Amino acid sequence: MDIRAYVVAAERHCAQRGSKLTALRRQVLEIVLSQQGVIKAYQVLAALQEQRGVAAPPTVYRALDFLVEHGLLHKVEALNGFIVCDHFDCQHESLILVCQLCGKVQEIDASASLAVLREAASTVTFTLSQQNPLLAGVCDRCQV
Ligand SMILES: [Zn+2]
Ligand SMILES: [Zn+2]
Repeated sequence: MDIRAYVVAAERHCAQRGSKLTALRRQVLEIVLSQQGVIKAYQVLAALQEQRGVAAPPTVYRALDFLVEHGLLHKVEALNGFIVCDHFDCQHESLILVCQLCGKVQEIDASASLAVLREAASTVTFTLSQQNPLLAGVCDRCQV
């Protein structure tokens, strides 16, 4: 992924929504972008502390929340981590596919499959929360 191009587009995307990609938010975004696959909040924090010398955990968590809210990142609840959304602002829940061999992460629209799961859960009066489920498997490159 072209990190610079992504950040420029992300800045424009935030501005259109009346928000600002501050230096810190941008730095957090760059850290997630430089990571192949899922990154956890504490790893972002550690990388940021390395770059800045000091970074308060709540500040970093707020920056991550901001990026999720603006559709730049997806939260992967199952791993308590984050991935970059490469098509900004998905209005849908995503299915996160993780390759067990190379760690590559892909995102696909999960709205239809989650509707089926919601329906199934509702038979026991269970309401599924908004989420991006994660499934493990083997990617196209590793299947050769
Ligand atoms: Zn997405
Ligand atoms: Zn793979």
